Amino acid sequence: MKKNKNIYTKLFTIINKFIHAGKSHHFKGKLRISKGFVLLSSNPLYILFFLCYNTTMTTTAIMLCAGSGTRMGLGYNKLFYNNGLGTVLDRTLTTLLSHGRIDNIILTYAKEDESVIKSLASNTVTAIPGGATRFDSVKNALTAAKGCDIVLIHDGARPFVTHEIIDGAIDSAIKHGSGIASTPLTDTVKIVEQGIINSTPDRSTLYSAQTPQVFRYELISKAYEKASSHMPADRLHFTDDASVLEWYGIAPHLSLGSPDNIKITTSADLAKIPGNCRIGLGYDVHRFAKNRKLILGGIEIPHPLGLLGHSDADVLTHAIMDALLSATGLPDIGVLFPDTDSAYKGADSIELLKKVHRKLQTANCQLVNISCVIMAQAPKLAPHIQKMRARLADALNINTNQINISATTTEGLGITAIADENGGIAASCNVLIR
Ligand code: MG
Repeated sequence: MKKNKNIYTKLFTIINKFIHAGKSHHFKGKLRISKGFVLLSSNPLYILFFLCYNTTMTTTAIMLCAGSGTRMGLGYNKLFYNNGLGTVLDRTLTTLLSHGRIDNIILTYAKEDESVIKSLASNTVTAIPGGATRFDSVKNALTAAKGCDIVLIHDGARPFVTHEIIDGAIDSAIKHGSGIASTPLTDTVKIVEQGIINSTPDRSTLYSAQTPQVFRYELISKAYEKASSHMPADRLHFTDDASVLEWYGIAPHLSLGSPDNIKITTSADLAKIPGNCRIGLGYDVHRFAKNRKLILGGIEIPHPLGLLGHSDADVLTHAIMDALLSATGLPDIGVLFPDTDSAYKGADSIELLKKVHRKLQTANCQLVNISCVIMAQAPKLAPHIQKMRARLADALNINTNQINISATTTEGLGITAIADENGGIAASCNVLIR
């Protein structure tokens, strides 16, 4: 018996090596042997049992990347939005690629994104053209996925999907034929006609369908085939794959989704991507001068001396602008508003700050907070701080509690300790954006 055990253990070691060698080829996913089984392998019947029942199914993931993302207003596919730590598409694809039960991935692309999406192709990732609608894209991908047992369909714009959600949907598809990642609704839903509530469905029966939506391949491919032979108008109402199966006459099963598994739809959703914060630092100094107004943080402060500069020389607002531009990755104010340009002679720095803020918005960045320090021997600034905060917050369309300003003398040291034309005022600013 012991001799037999050694023989079968050796046999399994050989089979395991063979499968391991074939990992990147068509054996991957076809056959997997658990280490624990070697312990049971002393009986040949177990081997037969194992080969019959432990043969796992192949799973292909379809990742939909062919959307235009027009609602986002980026001017390009939202999947390519990069927060400095990778694109939305990278995040989604990485989660699928690192899932042990997904054998290969099919990406669908829009014509204008063909070269970028095709550059992601590898042994396990293929790229195919999407269609005019979501339905057409999935139909094309299902044709390309022919031969797999389980197919997982996922929106490229859902980067927060987790391995647990994927596991739940795959398990459900193996057991029931389908697994639709879903969450129960927390809001009360109203059926509305012409602005008037018609009825209130029982909330306990309402779920929000997400992706992944996972199916046995034969089932979903037949449903799509039948639906595609109908008039295009009939197919327009399919906003997900579960609807196609319902239309086919089969009730899909739910699996557990997550409220975090959102579809990136608006620019506010982009701010939910972790690691999306950036800091910026700005610093500026202006010399005191006679016959000039003293403008700090957009307000005029009564003082015998003002600050010298091409614009209104608002040293605090200049430091804030440079901090914002630095955090956003844009050139500084010396480049944007050069003092050689007469357009900026005597310019109101608050108007320039508004222009910088618009650049932030264009780059889909939102201000988190601003923290500034003004270094000056004179005048006393404490009585003016609240007014400056209010003026700057108004220009940036933020709350005053998002901006804080402190003032300090420099203990008689350096240029900011000199209260005449040989000295001046300096300002330093940190910002956080996301
Ligand atoms: Mg300046």
